[in-house]
Amino acid sequence: MAGPILAIVVPCYNEKDVLPATAQQLLEAVKRLAKSSVISHESKIVFIDDGSKDNTWELIENLCKKNPKIFSGIKLSKNRGHQNALLCGLLSVREFADASISMDADLQDDISVIDEMLNLYGSGCDIVYGVRSKRDKDSLFKRITAHLFYRFINFLGADIIYNHADFRLMSKNALNALAEYKEVNLFLRGIVPMLGYRTGIAYYERKERMAGESKYPVGKMLRFAFEGITSLSTKPIRMVTILGVIIFIISLAMIVYSVVRYFMGATETGWPSMICSIWSIGGLILLSIGIVGEYIGKIYLETKQRPRFIVEKKLGG
Ligand code: UDP
Ligand code: MG
Repeated sequence: MAGPILAIVVPCYNEKDVLPATAQQLLEAVKRLAKSSVISHESKIVFIDDGSKDNTWELIENLCKKNPKIFSGIKLSKNRGHQNALLCGLLSVREFADASISMDADLQDDISVIDEMLNLYGSGCDIVYGVRSKRDKDSLFKRITAHLFYRFINFLGADIIYNHADFRLMSKNALNALAEYKEVNLFLRGIVPMLGYRTGIAYYERKERMAGESKYPVGKMLRFAFEGITSLSTKPIRMVTILGVIIFIISLAMIVYSVVRYFMGATETGWPSMICSIWSIGGLILLSIGIVGEYIGKIYLETKQRPRFIVEKKLGG
């Protein structure tokens, strides 16, 4: 029995240094898996060129010419960022693939884990997360900032998998469900856990980048984190409301305190009333902004038009 049609989706941005090695290793993996009938012979490796400025696209073209049965390429008109490039790839492959595996072009994700992912897929998982068991090859700075980011975003109520990046298997069902999320500010790591379905985890050790440089310098990383937080959570607005309430309560306490001091005969003329009104008005303004913000948050979520439910199976008529 032939295995499922697999599509390996690889976004590439200025990856000329590493792409030949990546293509070679992926090709070997796909051939090996197809030979042992774990996957179908119609499986493909899809590169998405995210508007590279180097000759990445020419490399992809050459690969497709040499091996059109296995390689295919998509070129975006300009650099749209990792998440959009990845989404483009995932949405395109769902037409022919039974399952997709997304991974970075730099071979930091361990290709041999694909076997394990397919195993879990075979046992009924629609989504398999690749999770880094160790990331000591990443810089200390990257590890600390990543840890803080996961903690913070979980605190804000978004459900994202710790130490999982975008190395994951998704079945056709999961991809079709993902396509229902039409939002423009897309943060895949936060959306995928919302899909539900049976999920599995495949652990791997994150390696060093094979060649080339990270395409995520600090500025881009912070923007990515900010994007993730604001597209998944409206809790920061709630925090403004809470701050407003706290400040207003403090101002009430101060009014009581000033009145008590007044009856004890120890008053500085003008000062207490001044401070109390500044604090109470400040608190009330923050509270009002928070309340208005709550509505804006609701509008924000409504405009995303996320699906309200996703059907996994149906029985009967
Ligand atoms: N990437 C992309 N568009 C971008 C930036 C990055 O498609 O604007 C791709 C890049 O080619 C790589 C993946 O996203 O395949 C992850 O990037 P990178 O390895 O530089 O990030 P890091 O591992 O350093 O976080
Ligand atoms: Mg990388």
